Amino acid sequence: MKEITILSGKGGAGKTTVTAALASLATNAVFCDNDVDAADLHLIFKPEILETHKFSSGSIATINQDACTNCGLCETSCRFDAIHSNSDGYPEVNPFQCEGCRLCERICPAEAITTHENFNNHWFVSETRFGALVHAKMGPGEENSGKLVSRIREKAREIAIKTKADIIINDGPPGIGCSAISSITGTNLVLLVIEPTISGLHDAKRLIELVHSFKIPMLALINKYDINTDSTAEVEEYLKQNEIEIIGRVPFDTKMVDSMVHEQSIVEFSPRSKASEELKQSWNLIARSLEYYQ
Ligand code: SF4
Ligand code: SF4
Repeated sequence: MKEITILSGKGGAGKTTVTAALASLATNAVFCDNDVDAADLHLIFKPEILETHKFSSGSIATINQDACTNCGLCETSCRFDAIHSNSDGYPEVNPFQCEGCRLCERICPAEAITTHENFNNHWFVSETRFGALVHAKMGPGEENSGKLVSRIREKAREIAIKTKADIIINDGPPGIGCSAISSITGTNLVLLVIEPTISGLHDAKRLIELVHSFKIPMLALINKYDINTDSTAEVEEYLKQNEIEIIGRVPFDTKMVDSMVHEQSIVEFSPRSKASEELKQSWNLIARSLEYYQ
């Protein structure tokens, strides 16, 4: 069983569109939406949720104001500036700033503070027309996206082993944050989706450095390659210098947008379009390349 992670240096490069197209072409695959901060694969996959699980984003402090003597110690001691007086003059914890360090709990002379697990994130196992999908939803302002990605990838692997799937396709997050790092770890291959723009290349360079530091093989697909031929040439030159093979050049096609509006992949919506044809060829090259990567 092989695993591929689809990534882009920045949002809006077409990563999810490409993932959906490859989902239409892959057989016997399990899918995992690693973009837990802004999950959107479900919009096309239209999953039927079979399992819902809670995921802790860490600990958070709560103050029992009935027990509080208002000594002010917690407010002055919190290193994260997470405790402030409310309109009644009593201390209150800001859940978005609390790091769950438990200092306030330990020092409160009235034992008015307790910390508890914050289960504001959820992850799901779903059935879709393409195969099983593991995905997640983070609560507003929640953290620990890297750990959540690791958890859902672990579940996707479990399902893939159980169902004897040939491949796991991860739709990774944009950028180089914690969740991107968690998406890269242990994958067999990274597919970089890049748009030929100045910012597209700038952000892709940082991602390429990151993936290279993990020594994971990387292929590239240029999306909307025909919107700016000069930029495309620059992107191609950079990829060549970094020995990254280009496996596809997808043309700009308004049908791509139409397919999203119809909640379908481009391959489903317009199978004979130029974009679909190019993506089919790209998928064949990816499948062939995967045979060589352990
Ligand atoms: S340390 Fe305890 S008693 Fe003092 S203000 Fe904070 S919660 Fe109230
Ligand atoms: S647990 Fe730590 S971060 Fe949270 S309010 Fe208490 S002292 Fe501040």
